[in-house]
Amino acid sequence: VVVKASRCFELEDDPSFWKDNSIQVLIRIRPLNSNEISVQGQKRCVRQDSSQSITWTGHPESRFTFDHVVDEYVSQEELFNVAGVSLVDNCMAGYNSCMFAYGQTGSGKTHTMLGDIEGGTRRHSVNAGITPREKDSRREEKLRFTCKCSFLEIYNEHILDLLEPSSVNLQIREDLRKGVYVENIKEIEVSTARDVIHQLVQGSTNRKVASTNMNRASSRSHSVFTCVIESKWESQGVTHHRFAQLNLVDLAGSERQKTSGAEGERLKEATNINKSLSTLGLVIMNLVSNSNKKSLHIPYRDSKLTFLLQDSLGGNSKTIIIANISPSFSCTLETLSTLKFAQRAKFIRNNAIVNEDASGDVIAMRLEIQKLKKEVVRLQ
Ligand code: ADP
Ligand code: MG
Repeated sequence: VVVKASRCFELEDDPSFWKDNSIQVLIRIRPLNSNEISVQGQKRCVRQDSSQSITWTGHPESRFTFDHVVDEYVSQEELFNVAGVSLVDNCMAGYNSCMFAYGQTGSGKTHTMLGDIEGGTRRHSVNAGITPREKDSRREEKLRFTCKCSFLEIYNEHILDLLEPSSVNLQIREDLRKGVYVENIKEIEVSTARDVIHQLVQGSTNRKVASTNMNRASSRSHSVFTCVIESKWESQGVTHHRFAQLNLVDLAGSERQKTSGAEGERLKEATNINKSLSTLGLVIMNLVSNSNKKSLHIPYRDSKLTFLLQDSLGGNSKTIIIANISPSFSCTLETLSTLKFAQRAKFIRNNAIVNEDASGDVIAMRLEIQKLKKEVVRLQ
């Protein structure tokens, strides 16, 4: 996450990573672990064919193409250079940006998103994930700029504030100007990368404590780290104001939750985790299969996750999904399921605009126009 000024406002065109409005999808294959080697040896369920394609080697073999496929030899830093830098550039240019990590438990989502945070700031630990990394600024601009972050967890369809753990059931609201937001969430103003790391460490510790107290694994909750970046600068007597939201999302494990034999809280938990992830799947399915029929209902509001992140899916955001997979034969079905999910997500079209407010309420008006257009389509 960047907290220093860079060349942001000349960036009118999309950075090259975004060729169009589609969501970027990247597959990350993690190394085999000792447990997998002891069960299945080196037997693998995938073969990487190129930097953009991968074959699932089960029956029948299936080949998939993505924006990027990276293997176990790609370091955290290289991954940041492929996916994180453009995310930061977009955000600094005034585009809302979002990164999701998807995959079964143990596939590398948290390693990718957070990794080793303690060793953060400028001299990163080699294991630092995307969130705690910092992109160097090239030169200073006449820029005033603020960055606020918040960190939340969605568990059992409840929102917990990881920076204020006594807030346990926050509500999502929507208004014309702010868009979708979490009411009463703690937002902390940060001015250095070190401040951001501090909040990340704090929030992650609170997450561990909460999951221990409630006797559950963090793999069953979703976490969302958000930075809101606002910049102001003067040009020819006009004050420009840009703002963008960056969401970094570590999803719950995508494996099917066992409902057989579960009762009470456990059953509710299993159903709700399925609900957030299955609604995510459904939202994607509807967005993709109905891209020509815009009037179709997209069930964003059916889960907390999709309601909160509705802009990131089919809306005003530049979005990357990192689908994490294990290459082991012992994970073959979960890996196939993740590849299929990622393949569907590729067809989502977003519509990101620079959030700029040069004179009055341009953004609010644009959003109002968008809303009215949707309403017109719905009434037709
Ligand atoms: P998840 O969050 O999807 O449940 P984790 O990120 O916790 O999975 O990863 C499980 C284990 O595998 C961790 O010990 C992590 O350090 C390791 N791991 C995951 N991805 C990689 C990778 N690309 N390289 C090295 N180790 C990895
Ligand atoms: Mg995890």
